[in-house]
Amino acid sequence: MSALAAGVMREALIDVGAIAANVRHLRRLTESEAIAVVKADGYGHGAVRSARAALAGGASRIGVADVAEALALRRAGIEAPLLAWLHAPGAVFDEAAAAGIELGISSFDQLMAAAAASAADRPTRLHLKVETGLGRNGIAPHEQSVVFAEAARLERIGKVRVAGIFSHLSNTSEADDRAALRRFEETLGVAGALGLTPEVRHLAASHAAIALPESRFGCVRLGIAMYGLSPFEERTSAELGLQPAMTLRAAVAAVRRVPAGQGVSYGYLHRTEAETTLALVPLGYADGVPRAASGGGAVRIGGRVFPVAGRVAMDQFVVDVGDHPVSVGDEAVLFGDPTLGAPAVETWADSAATINYEIVTRIGPRVPRREVAR
Ligand SMILES: *Cc1c(COP(=O)(O)O)cnc(C)c1O
Repeated sequence: MSALAAGVMREALIDVGAIAANVRHLRRLTESEAIAVVKADGYGHGAVRSARAALAGGASRIGVADVAEALALRRAGIEAPLLAWLHAPGAVFDEAAAAGIELGISSFDQLMAAAAASAADRPTRLHLKVETGLGRNGIAPHEQSVVFAEAARLERIGKVRVAGIFSHLSNTSEADDRAALRRFEETLGVAGALGLTPEVRHLAASHAAIALPESRFGCVRLGIAMYGLSPFEERTSAELGLQPAMTLRAAVAAVRRVPAGQGVSYGYLHRTEAETTLALVPLGYADGVPRAASGGGAVRIGGRVFPVAGRVAMDQFVVDVGDHPVSVGDEAVLFGDPTLGAPAVETWADSAATINYEIVTRIGPRVPRREVAR
């Protein structure tokens, strides 16, 4: 990895080639069409660049949580089918429908709103989302036949097109996911009997796409795995053949030689044991470095890895590097691709009692993203 450019304090390098390669790898592994999930600004990687990279890697559709995210992608020139599945109460879908955005529909009311957004020559395209046990949104089992029948009727009169039927798994255990899978198959049977002919059926996100082949239905929604991170606690990216796409790094902003007994950062959670060198890293919790990782985490400076010394502050934290030679301007890597020597994002997640998803997604707007290709 090249050094930081002069004047750059902190940055997240986004390897778009890695995103494309991950999608290509997962398409081959799952033998399925891929819906690339780029909600929450592409899990912090940038929605537009992530969508473009995923399409280059063979994804054929893009998924996001809400319509505003989908509209932003359309405005940026993404022409692939876009699906948005989380809506405000009472949402009006006129703008989304006019932009050709496909809507995930979780209730009778949403179905009506989608039909109302159709135009004479343009049925609104839908994916009916069904509840199979996650306990979030999705059409409840007892409402499914009513909603499906109405969707079929609206399709016959040209108001909607039911392009897909989908659900989402809890990843609680293989048995729980298999139970949800059976419910999904029953639901597909009901939909077919009522005359629905979806182009795609999709149930699996990254976890099941990799671990539960029967859940693929020829179409999988890829989120975390396409960014090169593992959806499994017990399996690494490398073991899955994935390349982490984000590297978070900063330039050491200050170096200070201090005696034994020096307190470090708010609350003096760390005190130096002997004369040592303290290096200041200009990334803090405003940038998504979790305060809960105070005293933990991992930072690679000059080929060695150190934990955070004391508290993570809003804008910065300190590393106690001992007698290791460190200079102002040296690269400090918080996480990246472990096969290239960077700490794993999971080290930070573990220190903060969270998951890799949350760490990358919360990297803040003050950290410039810079595209790289390996
Ligand atoms: C976020 C999300 C995904 C992607 O999940 P990953 O675990 O990141 O692959 C897929 N489907 C739905 C409905 C989601 O909300």
